[in-house]
Amino acid sequence: MNMKVIVIGSGFSGLAAATSLADKGYDVTVLEKNSVAGGRARVFHTEGFTFDMGPSWYWMPDIFENYFAAFGKKPSDYYDLVRLDPSYAVILANNETINLPASIDKLGDLFESMEAGSKAKFQEFLRQAEYKYDVGINQFVWKPSTSITEFLSLKLLYDVVRLDVFQSFSSHIRKFFKDEKILKLMEFPILFLGATPENTPAMYSLMNYAEMKLGTWYPMGGMFKIIEGMVALAKEKGVKILLEQNVTKIEIDKGEAKKVITDKGEFQAEVVVASADYHHVEDKLLGDKYRNYDEAYWNKRVMAPSSLLFYLGINKRIPKLLHHNLFFDEDFKVHAHEIYTEPQWPSKPLFYASAPSKTDASIAPEGCENVFLLIPVAPDLEDSEEIREKYYHIIMERLEKYCGVSIRDAVVFKRSYAHSDFKADYNAFKGNAYGLANTLMQTALLKPTLKSKKVKNLYYTGQLTVPGPGVPPSLISGMVVANEVNKEFRKP
Ligand SMILES: Cc1cc2nc3c(=O)[nH]c(=O)nc-3n(C[C@H](O)[C@H](O)[C@H](O)COP(=O)(O)OP(=O)(O)OC[C@H]3O[C@@H](n4cnc5c(N)ncnc54)[C@H](O)[C@@H]3O)c2cc1C
Repeated sequence: MNMKVIVIGSGFSGLAAATSLADKGYDVTVLEKNSVAGGRARVFHTEGFTFDMGPSWYWMPDIFENYFAAFGKKPSDYYDLVRLDPSYAVILANNETINLPASIDKLGDLFESMEAGSKAKFQEFLRQAEYKYDVGINQFVWKPSTSITEFLSLKLLYDVVRLDVFQSFSSHIRKFFKDEKILKLMEFPILFLGATPENTPAMYSLMNYAEMKLGTWYPMGGMFKIIEGMVALAKEKGVKILLEQNVTKIEIDKGEAKKVITDKGEFQAEVVVASADYHHVEDKLLGDKYRNYDEAYWNKRVMAPSSLLFYLGINKRIPKLLHHNLFFDEDFKVHAHEIYTEPQWPSKPLFYASAPSKTDASIAPEGCENVFLLIPVAPDLEDSEEIREKYYHIIMERLEKYCGVSIRDAVVFKRSYAHSDFKADYNAFKGNAYGLANTLMQTALLKPTLKSKKVKNLYYTGQLTVPGPGVPPSLISGMVVANEVNKEFRKP
C-alpha cells in the first residue's frame, strides 16, 4: 500500500504538492472546501462572461514550463499562451498614459526619451537583475528554509552580497534613475510583493527582469486555464480531488496526525500537507497545543494588502482600455501610508483595471467588455456594502473620465469582493488577499516554517510560508514541500 497523503486546499500550492507527491508514488487526496478548485485563482461564469477571480498577470513563464516539464508535459499541452504587447498601460497624473512596449530595446528608447543616458543605465540595471533572477528563482526559492545550514555555503554567502539583500529596492533603483516617471514604472512590480519599495530588499529587482525581459503573458480562455491544466495533470497522476469538503479538524495522536475530519466525513492520513491559510490551520484545525506560532506572532506579521475587487460585465467595448491598466494618477505615498502605516480605507486610491476581453473574445459576449477592478487596501478593515459602493463610484468616475465614455450605464453584471469574502471563501487571516509581505524580516528562515514543529507528519505550503505569495512562488512552495515530505517518508 502507498502512503496516504491528505492535502488540504486546491490552490496552486495544494495542486502542485499533490501532483508532485502522487508522481513520487504516494496515494494523494485533496480536500477542498469550495465547489471549484483553484483557491484564489477560481473562476465564475455568468451571463456569457468568464471572470477569473484572482490572478490576472502571467509572469515568469519559465516557472510554469519547469513545473509541467517535471511531469514530462508542457504548458501548451493544456493552454495557449500569448505575449501582450504593449505589456500594460500606466496612467499618471492628468491621465498621461505610458504604454510599456514588450521589446526591451523599445523600452530602453522610451526611458531615454524621459531621461538622457537612462537606456544604458537600464541595460546595466537589467544585467544585475538577471543575476538576481537567476540566483533568486533558480536557487533561493527552492530552499525549504528549515535550517540555517542550507544557507551556509561560501557561494551562497557571496550571492547574498551580490543580491543586495540588505539594501532597499527604493535606494537601489535611485542609483540608476532620477526621472520620477521612470521610478514609478520600475517600482510598480514591487507592489505585487506587498510592501513599499523602501521596505522591500533590492534583490526583488528580479521582478523587473521577470516582467520586462521575460514578458507579460496571457493564457487564452483565462488564468483559470492554468488551474484546469494542473487539475488534469493531477488526475493523470492519480490524485483524487474532493470538492465541498470543509476540513474542520486535524486529529492528532501522540504527536502524529492520524485523520483529517471534514463536514462530510473522515479521511485517514499518514502525512498531512495543509495548503489552506496557515493561520486558519493553526487556529481552527489544530488548536493551541499543536500550533507553531501563537496569536501574538501572527498579529506582528506584516501582511500584504487585501483588495476591494469588482467584476464587471459591460455591454459595449471601451476602446481606450488595454488588457492591463494601472492607475497611478494619485500619490502612491499617501495610499501606501493608508495601507501599511495607519491602516484605513484609502482617501485617494490607486487602482488597477484589467480588460482581458481585449485579448480574448471567448470571455465576454460579442461586443461586450469583461472588466476587473482591483483597489489594494489594508487587511483587517471593516467592509460593508456601503463602503464598496462608495469606492465603486470613486473609481468609475476616474475610469469614465480617462476612457472618455460613460460606463456605469452599460454595466450589465456587477459583483464586488473584499475582506469578508476572502475570510468566508478561503479562511483568510485578516481577509488577506496575497499573504505575507516580502519584507527582509519575513524572508526565507524568517517566514512561517513549512514543517510543523510539534506534529511530525504535518507540513504547510502556500503563500503564507516559503517562498511567498504569488502564483509562481505558490507553485514552487508545493513542489518544495513535496520534496521535504519525500525526504522524510520515502520508503527504502
Ligand atoms: C485578487 C488577487 C489577485 C492576484 N493577482 C495575482 C497575479 O496577477 N499574479 C500572481 O502571480 N499572483 C496573484 N495573486 C496571488 C496568487 O493568486 C496567490 O498567491 C496564490 O493563488 C495562492 O495560492 P495558495 O495555494 O497559496 O492559496 P489559495 O489559492 O488560497 O489555496 C488555498 C485553498 O485552501 C482552501 N481551504 C481553506 N480552508 C479550508 C478548509 N478548512 N478546508 C478545505 N479547504 C480549505 C481554500 O478554499 C483554497 O482553495 C493574486 C491574488 C488575489 C487574491
